[in-house]
Amino acid sequence: MGDIIQLLPDHVANQIAAGEVVQRPASVIKELVENAIDAGSNSIQVVIKDAGKTLIQVVDNGKGMSLTDARMSFERHATSKIKQAEDLFKLKTKGFRGEALASIAAISHVELKTKPDNEEVGTFIKIEGSKLTSQDVCVCPQGTSVSVKNLFYNIPARRNFLKSDAVETRHIIDEFQRTALAHPQISFSLVHNNSELFQLPETNHRQRITNIFGGKTNEKLVPVTEETEIVEISGFVGKPEFAKKSRGEQFFFVNNRFVKSPYLNHAVVSAFEGLLKDKSHPSYFLFLKVDPKSIDINIHPTKTEIKFDDEHALYAILRSAIKHSLGQFNVAPVLDFDRDSNLDTPYEYKNKSAEVPGVEVDRNFNPFKDEKSGSGSNFSSGFKKERGESWESLYTGLQTEHELKPDADFKEIEFESEEVTGNLFNNSDSSEEKSTFQLQKKYIVSTLKSGILVIDQHRAHTRILYEELLKNITVSAAVSQQLLFPLNLQFNTQEIEVISQLKDSLEQTGFIFSELKKDSAEIVGIPTLISESEVAILLEQLIADFENDVPDNGFSQTDLLAKSLAKGMAVKSGTLLNNTEQQHIVNRLFACKEPGLSPTNRSVFVTLTVDELDKKFM
Ligand code: ADP
Ligand code: MG
Repeated sequence: MGDIIQLLPDHVANQIAAGEVVQRPASVIKELVENAIDAGSNSIQVVIKDAGKTLIQVVDNGKGMSLTDARMSFERHATSKIKQAEDLFKLKTKGFRGEALASIAAISHVELKTKPDNEEVGTFIKIEGSKLTSQDVCVCPQGTSVSVKNLFYNIPARRNFLKSDAVETRHIIDEFQRTALAHPQISFSLVHNNSELFQLPETNHRQRITNIFGGKTNEKLVPVTEETEIVEISGFVGKPEFAKKSRGEQFFFVNNRFVKSPYLNHAVVSAFEGLLKDKSHPSYFLFLKVDPKSIDINIHPTKTEIKFDDEHALYAILRSAIKHSLGQFNVAPVLDFDRDSNLDTPYEYKNKSAEVPGVEVDRNFNPFKDEKSGSGSNFSSGFKKERGESWESLYTGLQTEHELKPDADFKEIEFESEEVTGNLFNNSDSSEEKSTFQLQKKYIVSTLKSGILVIDQHRAHTRILYEELLKNITVSAAVSQQLLFPLNLQFNTQEIEVISQLKDSLEQTGFIFSELKKDSAEIVGIPTLISESEVAILLEQLIADFENDVPDNGFSQTDLLAKSLAKGMAVKSGTLLNNTEQQHIVNRLFACKEPGLSPTNRSVFVTLTVDELDKKFM
């Protein structure tokens, strides 16, 4: 048999390398921006069209390249950043592999304009699929501009694999933010389809974080600093009460390079132990400086993973530095989420001497009266009112805005408790034959002709709301409640992106947005199904659910939206329901198209027939 092994031609080798370095438009931005930083720029502009699928352009004011360097820069393993293997361990630059430009040029149409400081004119080069198609002198400012057009034009499989513009834009924003956070002393801008997403002036770390994540971020940050022999830590963690449902704002930078490290993430999270609500994630922006000798960056082509010599020590130092900061800034001791906040003494009353509690009773309040009939969501609005205005919340002592009345009327208190007792044993209403009761504030138990029915209250309500929302979004818009004062909620750019994608559907459910700015949303109407105080949590949950993917297809988007909102609006287990509320749920559930399953396909109820019971007694 003859020899069969041969060297791959350069353009093929480059295409293969590109597979590792360039996964999506965001990877191109990362590489180009890193090159711009390595070139000593202090101002970097990024322009993209169609989520980078049509155009990605990065313009810098760095040191530029000579004609020869400009040609060389597209060769594989061509770099000015290291000369020998040992240099890998004293890296001060972002790049060093010398393969980014070669890889990018292998799979797109690239145009480069560059001019060093000391030259009169610059160089213009055009390369298509690794082939030089044009080279010329050009008049251009000092620095470099690289345009990458038609990414993956020669690898259809990769191009088809790209996600929707919304998703690719999110990846780009992620990448952009990471780099911008690491280099506050450089000004950055990002423009997408002619609209400016970010315009970040030169500043310090704290201000940069605020500029990216919105004005309200500043007050949420707790500084962290620590200096030891092996690491210098600076940066911020978010106060625990602002922890988010999504992991969006978690950043580690090692020697100004964004890295992912589940291990160090664990150190941070463990420093927050006992301070976070279930399933919420703290924000952090932590900058670690270590001796370049003590890390290996070259374990992954995209350089986002890193190997530390002394990971255990780093873990311990990081954890204790954060604990210290949280303690020092008095964040730690105040919070205890395991306690039932209903049992807490409201702040204002802690130091007051005992006074006779005043009680306000709404004598006209009738929980069985449907407040708003004719609205698109009878059940829920009626239900909401009952929950919101039940006797419990009428105790003024729990409502801090009410003044204590010194001369409280004792008769009213007695009257009130009579009402309560009356309520609990009230079987005299017309629904007697279909009576229900609640088990563990979690299940609604009802009798059937042939046995008993046990309903999971949360899942049942989720199913009801889900079908109602789907109908509202697709068929007839829901009624909204007008807010007296517009609600102004702060979001970051990414979150605003998601909201604007979903705006139309959200408006069908009853939200009315009067304004979507870069970092805030003004809301003047909300669905009748929710209260004003729930809006922020609901939208945050929604954004978290859409974090990884905004489906392209209209149906799955509506479906996900309805699922997410229904989950957030539905009564939770642990909520006490009165008889009418239980009945409402049961009746509405069985009017649903698919009462047996929650929107996420879990059982909503189980039945136990008399036959089955009989067997148990045999
Ligand atoms: P690496 O960054 O790993 O060296 P690249 O392929 O990204 O490899 O770039 C190759 C070389 O081209 C760099 O080492 C640098 O000398 C030069 N270069 C790339 N981009 C720029 C730029 N924006 N300004 C100046 N020089 C650049
Ligand atoms: Mg590079």
